Order: sequence, then structure tokens, then C-alpha cells
Amino acid sequence: MKTGIPVEQAHQIVMAEASPLPSEIVDASAALGRVLAEPVDSGRTLPPADCSAMDGYAVRGEELAGPGPHLLPVVYEVAAGGSGERPLAPGEAARIFTGAPVPPGADTVVRQEDTEEEGDRVGILIEPRRGENVRLAGEDVEAGDTVLARGVRIGAPEIGMLASLGRTLVHVHRRPRVAVVSGGNELVEPDRDASGGRIVSSNAYSLSAQCTLAGAEPTNLGIARDTPEDLERVFRAGLSSDLIVSSAGVSVGDHDHVRPVLEKLGCELRFWGVLMKPGYPLAFGRIGAAGPWVFGLPGNPVSAMVTFEQFVRPMLLRMAGFGACYRPVLEATLAERLTKKPGRLHFVRVHLKREGREWSATSTGTQSSGVLRSMTLAQGLLVFPAEATELAAGARISVQVLDEELFRETEPCV
Ligand code: AMP
Ligand code: MG
Repeated sequence: MKTGIPVEQAHQIVMAEASPLPSEIVDASAALGRVLAEPVDSGRTLPPADCSAMDGYAVRGEELAGPGPHLLPVVYEVAAGGSGERPLAPGEAARIFTGAPVPPGADTVVRQEDTEEEGDRVGILIEPRRGENVRLAGEDVEAGDTVLARGVRIGAPEIGMLASLGRTLVHVHRRPRVAVVSGGNELVEPDRDASGGRIVSSNAYSLSAQCTLAGAEPTNLGIARDTPEDLERVFRAGLSSDLIVSSAGVSVGDHDHVRPVLEKLGCELRFWGVLMKPGYPLAFGRIGAAGPWVFGLPGNPVSAMVTFEQFVRPMLLRMAGFGACYRPVLEATLAERLTKKPGRLHFVRVHLKREGREWSATSTGTQSSGVLRSMTLAQGLLVFPAEATELAAGARISVQVLDEELFRETEPCV
């Protein structure tokens, strides 16, 4: 087991172990946000036939050379969902509506606005371009096309496409099931008396929410007392999950039982301790050869959330089948001078503000790892490199964007 490793190395170790979970079959209409575990090939041509893009008249384009009006008999009508009675003969026109199949013989649709009705004949007032206002068969999808690749995230257009292809079921990667464990004699549930040295086990809630945001399915296993026996009991309840995320009890204090309990359960730790702040005490390993992966996160609410962001989230996204697993990073101008000691990479909670085309970053204030409120104020985590000791006001810095709201606008752009 490695101890006190740089953040970059911890990323490598975690992601070297992360791989997409096996697929499952789900209703296509319920697959929003999932990742395709199969390429989707089309058994259909879309549109299935040449069809009209307008309300108007289907004609044989070559007959309408030269300026109009051209007077043609209207021999029948085709509506959407219908079909022509017979092929269109030379010199004929058919009334046609948007979405209706263009009858054989016709190749062009003249918009209603460019015609004049004269009894059972129509006057074509323009010289149409051949093929005008016709959506060709296969313009969208040809039978045999691979329309959606394996690994694609299913969004709204993919949901529509699956429906168009007549796919009611689809193979997607299984969502990771995560057991959330909390440990500490001081901890209580939110609806209990939190006076006299007790505190609410908020980590169980913030970490569960982070799991959900990462596309995983969290189960809150509740609070373990600070005894090896109770901690073992709660960890055992999570053995059938894909991943266990625990918080607290992972340091080296007398009441920190996470590491020995994990060892007893057959967990081989890949590392303990990452050179970062917040969040030095951080354990990662696996129980047995095929059991759940385990992250022992620090107990302080900010440390738990930030270490989850850095390591648990990317692993969960990879397990769910995603290729890109890290937060977007933007370059910003630092609004104030920041200093620290060398040795650990700091993730500084920052407020991000856009000024014209530029972003500026300001610290949310105290960076104490117990101040959960700073996370509610932060839109990003500024990366203060391990060996750097100072970032000057005005410096260009990298910020991991936590809050997608940041990119929403209050005004339309047109
Ligand atoms: P520990 O790692 O057990 O020393 O915990 C570090 C700090 O995190 C202590 O102040 C704990 O009270 C706090 N803490 C531990 N677990 C939780 C939790 N589930 N929710 C909120 N705070 C916690
Ligand atoms: Mg504790």
C-alpha cells in the first residue's frame, strides 16, 4: 500500500481500476442519462419513402420548365398517413399535404402559396426547382446505418431516435450501486436532538446526493458507532454493492477503526493518504478480488465532499460507462492573492463571476474543512498546485467547475 501520494498518482490508481459495469436491458423511454452498451443499428429507412415537406401539389418537375402559369388537372389527393391512388401520369398534379408520401411519377412539390386553384385544375405560378420540397427516403437514416455508437450518453435526441427506430428496449451499462457508511459516536440523524456535542451526519446526505448526480444509486446504511464491531456490521451490509463510500474514522486516532476493519474484511488498500487539502486521510481499496471497491473518506464535511469529487465521482462515471469522467475546467483570473505551504495540492473553494468574456475567481472565505457552507457558496474548486506557495492577484488559474448553473443565462442570446 502507498501512503502520502500526490493527487495525480491517486487519480491514476483509481482510474486504472475503474471499468464499465456489465450491461442491462431497460425500457428505451426510461434510458435518459444512461450510457449505451451496444451500438444501435437501424433496421429501417427514415423517412421510409419520399414525402412532402409542404402543403401543395405534387408534380413531375420536368414538365414545368419555363415561366408559368402551367395549368394541370388535380387527379387525387394524398394526406399524411395516406398513399397515392396510382402513379401520376404525365401532365397531372396531385394535391398533397406535409408528411404525405410523394406518389410515384412525381418528384417535386410546389407550395400551395405558389399556386392558384381553378376548379379541378391547379395553376402553377412558378418554375419550380426539380425535387423541391421533397424529403427523400433515407435522408435521416438508411437501413443498416449505425445510428448511435456504443458509449453514447442517451439524451433527448437519442430517446427520440430510439423511438423512431422502433426500439422499445435498449442495452445500457448498469448504474453503480453505492453503499454510504457514516461512522462516529457523535453522529445523529437530522430529525434527532443534536445538542450536547452531537452533530448531524450530514455527510450521508451530501455524499448520497453526489452519488445520484454521478448517475449512481446510493443506499444510506446509517451510522456506525466508534467500535470495530459496529463498523464491521455496517460495512458488511454494503458487501453486495459495487462500491462502499464511508466517511470519518480513517485517520490515526484511537477511535479511527476504518482501516483495521477493512483489513479484517479482506480489503487490500491501494493507497492511504493523498497530498491534498482538504482531505489528506483517504483510503482506497477493494474487498476481496470481486467485492466492492471502498473509499474511506475523511469525516470533515468539506473534505468528504471534495475527495468524493476528485476520486469517487470519476470512478462512478467510468463504471456507468462514461468516457469523459472529470469536471470541466475553466481558466479564470484570480481576484485576490493566495498563499500556502508547499507539499500539498489545495482545492480552494471559489466563487466564479463572469466579466465580459473573462471569468474571475474569488475565495468563498474561510477554507476550514468543517465549513460546509463554503461548499454551498462555491461554484468551483481552484487548483493551487502542490509545490506552489503563492498565487498573485490577477494570476491565471484553473478552476474545476462544480456548478452547471454557472453556464445558464438570465437573458436569451437572440
Ligand atoms: P473523524 O475522521 O472521525 O475524526 O471526523 C472528522 C470530523 O468530521 C469530526 O469533526 C466529525 O464530527 C466530522 N464528521 C464525521 N462524520 C461526519 C458525518 N457523517 N457528517 C458530518 N460530519 C461528520
Ligand atoms: Mg470520528
